[in-house]
Amino acid sequence: MFPSRYWREIPQRYRLEAGKCNKCGYIAFPPRLICPVCKGREFGTIKLKDEGELLTYTVIHVGPSAFSDQTPYALGIIKLDDGVNITAQLADVDINQIKTGARYRIEFRKLISAGHSGIHAYGYKCVPAR
Ligand SMILES: [Zn+2]
Repeated sequence: MFPSRYWREIPQRYRLEAGKCNKCGYIAFPPRLICPVCKGREFGTIKLKDEGELLTYTVIHVGPSAFSDQTPYALGIIKLDDGVNITAQLADVDINQIKTGARYRIEFRKLISAGHSGIHAYGYKCVPAR
């Protein structure tokens, strides 16, 4: 049900590890092999900041089937304090009270339960920073 890329990227996603280009400083999340800016191939590993600012969001009323029991929910783009944009579901917030520019913090949550197999997918969601 998930592409192999999803599984391969789990360690980075859990630890919020990003690659930082040794040559130009570009931060890639998930990490990449080749820098899209300078084509450099040497990256250091950094841990991303877990807080940032909500840039924009959209409310999903009809979601993919795995998320259908969670609709309506909001999907936001958060600019983390080190400049990386991530897309994540916004949790613990009334979808009518969401404001761009608000501070959000990354938390690890169960994303979905896959039917009867009992497989849970975990990942990050963003909750209001307090
Ligand atoms: Zn680079």
